[in-house]
Amino acid sequence: MLFLAYLSSTAGRTTAFAGMAKGALRTSTSVARRSSSAAFVNKRSSCASQLLLPSFTAGRFSSSSSTCSIARPSAVATELEKNLGVTHPAYDIISTDIVNEFGAYCTLYRHKKSGAELLSVSTDDDNKCFGITFRTPPSDSTGVPHILEHSVLCGSRKYKTKDPFVQLLQGSLQTFLNAFTYPDRTCYVVASQNTKDFYNLINVYADAVFHPRAISDPMVHAQEGWHLELEELSQPLTYKGVVYNEMKGVYSSPDSLLQREAQHSIFPDNTYGVDSGGDPVEIPNLSFEQFAEFHKKFYHPANSRIFFAGDDDVAKRLEIMDEYLSDFEESPESKPGSVVEYQKKTYDAPKLVRKPYPAGADQPETHMIMVNWLVNDRELTPVEEITITILDHLLMGTSSSILRKTLMESGLGDAITGGGLMTELLQGVFSVGLKGVKPENVGKVEELVVETLKKVAEEGFSEDAVAASMNTIEFDMREFNTGSFPKGLSLMLGSMSKWIYDKSPTEALKFEEPLAELKATIAESGSKVFQDMIRDFLLENSHRTTVEMYPSKTLEEEQLSAEKEKLAKMKESMSEDDLKQIIDKTVELKKIQASEDPPEARATIPSLELEDLKREVTEYPIEVTENAANSGITLVQHELGSTSGIAYASLAVDVSGIPLEDVPLLPLFTRIMMETGAGEYDSVALSRRIGMHTGGVSVSTMITGVNKEGAPEGVIGEGEHFVSKLTISGKATSDKVDEMFSIFDLILRDAKLDSKAKIIELLKESKSRKESSVQGSGHSTANARIRSRYNVIGYINEMILENMRNTILAKSTCRDGMILDITGDKAVFEKIQPAVEEFLEKLPGDSQGEKLPNFYSEPHPWAKQIKEEMSKKALIVDEGFVVPTQVSYVGKGGRLYDIGEEVSGSTAVIQKFLGTGYLWDNVRVIGGAYGGFCQFQPRDGIFTFLSYRDPNLAGTIDVYDAASDSLMASAVEMEKNPEALATAIIGAIGDMDGALSPDQKGAVAFRRWLVRETPEQRQKYRDQVLNTKPSDFRDFAQRLRALKDTSAAVVSSKAAFEDASKAGKTFTLKEVM
Ligand SMILES: [Zn+2]
Repeated sequence: MLFLAYLSSTAGRTTAFAGMAKGALRTSTSVARRSSSAAFVNKRSSCASQLLLPSFTAGRFSSSSSTCSIARPSAVATELEKNLGVTHPAYDIISTDIVNEFGAYCTLYRHKKSGAELLSVSTDDDNKCFGITFRTPPSDSTGVPHILEHSVLCGSRKYKTKDPFVQLLQGSLQTFLNAFTYPDRTCYVVASQNTKDFYNLINVYADAVFHPRAISDPMVHAQEGWHLELEELSQPLTYKGVVYNEMKGVYSSPDSLLQREAQHSIFPDNTYGVDSGGDPVEIPNLSFEQFAEFHKKFYHPANSRIFFAGDDDVAKRLEIMDEYLSDFEESPESKPGSVVEYQKKTYDAPKLVRKPYPAGADQPETHMIMVNWLVNDRELTPVEEITITILDHLLMGTSSSILRKTLMESGLGDAITGGGLMTELLQGVFSVGLKGVKPENVGKVEELVVETLKKVAEEGFSEDAVAASMNTIEFDMREFNTGSFPKGLSLMLGSMSKWIYDKSPTEALKFEEPLAELKATIAESGSKVFQDMIRDFLLENSHRTTVEMYPSKTLEEEQLSAEKEKLAKMKESMSEDDLKQIIDKTVELKKIQASEDPPEARATIPSLELEDLKREVTEYPIEVTENAANSGITLVQHELGSTSGIAYASLAVDVSGIPLEDVPLLPLFTRIMMETGAGEYDSVALSRRIGMHTGGVSVSTMITGVNKEGAPEGVIGEGEHFVSKLTISGKATSDKVDEMFSIFDLILRDAKLDSKAKIIELLKESKSRKESSVQGSGHSTANARIRSRYNVIGYINEMILENMRNTILAKSTCRDGMILDITGDKAVFEKIQPAVEEFLEKLPGDSQGEKLPNFYSEPHPWAKQIKEEMSKKALIVDEGFVVPTQVSYVGKGGRLYDIGEEVSGSTAVIQKFLGTGYLWDNVRVIGGAYGGFCQFQPRDGIFTFLSYRDPNLAGTIDVYDAASDSLMASAVEMEKNPEALATAIIGAIGDMDGALSPDQKGAVAFRRWLVRETPEQRQKYRDQVLNTKPSDFRDFAQRLRALKDTSAAVVSSKAAFEDASKAGKTFTLKEVM
């Protein structure tokens, strides 16, 4: 499920795209990393993925001018060069440029008639990307750019359905389809590996932005923005609307409130001081006329920047866009009318801002503090930009970076806020602080931040620290690994970071020259350049604010009653006629929302045919060697075409010997392994060693169900067969693989596990994280809760909290449970062979040792005990988790398939159909929730419904309960109209065929092998997807109707639970905060 995203601006690295703009330049790896805990985040979601800077790379001051040995393939260069300067009569060429850093051949055009700028980037990437961006600085917090972003995708001149966006979601092979609102711009982006699909998507988006239905039909603004709702005269008036509700969710999150206040405090005078997403209190001030006017003013081609990247035809790009652009005349006032003014540094002395945040009744009285600087009020040079990026990493990049470490170890708070530098807008902000701060420590946080910076400015950074940070950033930039996030989009966001301010889009992507210049400076004067920068940009810069958020147990209440009062007064002041009009409008809107698009309108949306789909499953190379080099260890290798000289390796170690009681300690155990140092290295030295030699090392646990030996594939098992591993993973250039393996070995054997202080620090932080996630993404809590009641694996995942080295490394058995998995290209494997053999020999354990139980034929040692505990503890009840929030997260689910039953691939099609059809329409469009979706796990047979930022509770459960009837009706409809079925199949295949980075390809092949899934089974499943029939929908509907042992789990406010109980929906309540 995709969400139209709204980006908060000071979020720094807490939102996916904050780093993405610079993503083309740095930290691209982590951006696309899926947040595995968030159930709703699908592989292409743009929301909420956490940006973590991986630590790492090579060289000291003396050697730092040597180039990193990541190799870019250059074979296709001559072909791509032909795409430079392709002409078209409708366009002037402004410039051509080659960005060698990314193998990108770029031509910048200006459309003669309309004045639109178009950047055409040719690369060898088949994941083609298109985007159109408008500069849309708002002047108030009514959320007009955000509401417009949602609204333009609700039908247009050529594409006449209510919601073409969702139709594209349903039936396209898109690898990215979304739109996002920044504080000063709005981007619309599509990507696909299929050329026909790509053109379909572009046409729909281009028509949508220039000719939306929303500017002539006020119902769209009402639905997506806000409207008054009233069903009967006796009832109270309420506000409804998708963005209204989305932003209520955002404003319920203390972290978002903190960021908002920080932003507001730093930018009192320019557009960044208002909220482009919309403040729920202000949103109802936006009239339809103002909304339509905003479109007229900013959505002119002359104020747009159009972007293409990939291996598609350049002439065709120009042709398609000319069709839309030539409808417009010149508009010389457009561009100057949207210029973003600099916020000048106007503060003589730092400012303090105090604001309340909503806290639960039982929550401790802790405060949140964030210190913020406005970094620049003039343009930074490329060298300054790269320098400050590295400075940010030195201060905040890893847990051993000086500022982060000092704050965490101070004991003044539980977790870091801010997280450092944010540079994707016109002006950079540096923010850092702590949350979970006791009232008496509030003043000390700011002092500690400033004192630490003073100390660093005085003493400088060590050579090791600088080398590690330099190499970390450089590895990231050169690897350019965006995961399943389209590379083209990464390039677009990178170029847009300058282009949107009328600077060169291609210069924005280049980093070789400034990097070399910085290296030369460091070689000459060491860390002085960073010390000077701390002084200039931070210490001697008085445009600084400290935002303190204090807990208020009455705030939520007050906001609710203020809104109620406002609406009650409004109702009083209205005549009965006025009210009847609102009732009529409510009915009309609901009617429109509930009506099906007529077939002729649906037919306007271009779509693919089933014949356009690939029939075969994509397989990735894998070679398994048991007892490799007589080590007793299994070696798994994936040799790909090119991995740019990088080896990606994982060492999996069996943890089944750990007693079940200790399993909850595993996550803590894995963090301790990374963060307390190992052997002769303290935590700082270890982190630097990792930084200097590798592209990052991490430790995690993996517990995954496997197919039982001899059992038929695709059949729901008892849940007794699974493997449990601790995994150390890393990446390095092939010449550094021996170093990386030696770090693996060091961490595995000698991590310091006895640091009490570190353990307490980590526990505090993880508690704090848990709390934010319950409040900010309650749906994943709800989902985990439901799954844990039915499934053994789910239960462990939820239990996981902490610790057990001796058991894991038991000499006699540990090697039998070890698997070394490596992904690389031919040259990599040739080069690393000796290092691999040496590593296998050196690892702990006895090469002639005993065998572990065969987890593919025998139940896992934990299975029996888990089942017993589940029957005792995880009772199947409807639970409610009470937190301070203005919205709900409603989950309900049960067992759809029994143990022993075979699951068909058609379930993937039906799940997609339900999620983008019935649930989208009823939970989101009609219900006003930000999201409504469902999940089905073919491995365990459990099905769950979930909603996200939902204004309803009881009503949403009614929607879930009626899903089977709707599905049944759809099945009947499909017999007559097979196109709807084809759309659903195409969409399901689109979800299965994402674009993967090399390491992801290796990981997919590894997982397939680990669970013992055969290629035949995968092909069978895919065939079932492709051959889905209406009768499969009927079967699914019947199962859904007979869903076994259903139960609900809901995260919401006390008031909402009380209302639900009046509607006959009662829950066993738990106060979690
Ligand atoms: Zn939104």
